Amino acid sequence: KLYNQVQDLKGNIRVYCRVRPFLPGQSSYLSTVDHIEEGTITINTSTKNGKGRKSFNFNKVFGPSATQEEVFSDTRPLVRSVLDGYNVCIFAYGQTGSGKTYTMTGPKDLTENSQGVNYRALGDLFLIAEQRKDTFFYDVSVQMIEIYNEQVRDLLASDGLSKRLEIRNSSHTGLSVPDASLVHVSSTSDVIDLMNLGQRNRAVGATALNDRSSRSHSCLTVHVQGRDLTSGNILRGCMHLVDLAGSERVDKSEVTGDRLKEAQHINKSLSALGDVISSLAQKNSHVPYRNSKLTQLLQDSLGGQAKTLMFVHISPEPDAVGETISTLKFAERVA
Ligand code: ADP
Ligand code: MG
Repeated sequence: KLYNQVQDLKGNIRVYCRVRPFLPGQSSYLSTVDHIEEGTITINTSTKNGKGRKSFNFNKVFGPSATQEEVFSDTRPLVRSVLDGYNVCIFAYGQTGSGKTYTMTGPKDLTENSQGVNYRALGDLFLIAEQRKDTFFYDVSVQMIEIYNEQVRDLLASDGLSKRLEIRNSSHTGLSVPDASLVHVSSTSDVIDLMNLGQRNRAVGATALNDRSSRSHSCLTVHVQGRDLTSGNILRGCMHLVDLAGSERVDKSEVTGDRLKEAQHINKSLSALGDVISSLAQKNSHVPYRNSKLTQLLQDSLGGQAKTLMFVHISPEPDAVGETISTLKFAERVA
């Protein structure tokens, strides 16, 4: 028990890098990725003359040909932890178009093989719960929220566009947004229906803006309560599956008004997330959770006994090299 409490926190934070393949029709003869060797990725920093190179280290690097199944494989133990009563956060970070939604959900024309982490994690969760049914009774429910301009919205609200919600970390219920819809589910297909509803509600808010999804964070939270059938003890765990807003920097000289405000909110919340994770990794005594809605929301699931996995995405195009390097620098700081 004591050993668990003093266990290396860093062991609870893992950072994986994933490189998107070139898309159909893109010229693929130049890539910013020079080579990948286990946990190390080497980038051509100046693709013009092929001279500069820089390497970054992660727990693992998935190249452009990695399958959804391979990318999910190390997430499996985390799903098991949720059923053992731990809290888990899984993040997708990267610039818009780098493959965050592909990793978490999958492509638009979804097939069983192309299903992302969300589907696979839920599939595993229900499977393990079923395997344990003689010893545990599990109750599973989900919430889905969006953080846009530092405002929290319920994506499962029956009336579509809902009011702003407050974050109140209640250790009693384990819910950080108690007023967001909490929907009981008993199968993966129940969750898929809810994810689709959430996506539709996200689109409702997006009418005035194009592709709001790249400028807000979406978080699917799976709450699990397990009752030990012998002792009657209750354990609680939850898993947050977070598709972050695009990390690209916008040029302040080119955008104004709403677009600039959005960009500043995204910037602030992603750096707050980086600050929290890196201070946890360095075992700092002060962890700055209060600096953004995102870190407030996830406070109980970042640090302590909780487990964190971040998938950091990069695009292979030379045009994106600036963003690629700043993404990898962000990631290396938290790794
Ligand atoms: P993001 O969510 O980061 O903006 P997307 O997940 O929407 O990016 O990916 C952008 C495009 O690239 C989509 O058409 C997506 O299907 C495709 N894509 C992303 N990652 C992969 C991958 N690993 N394999 C094949 N296509 C991918
Ligand atoms: Mg996306």
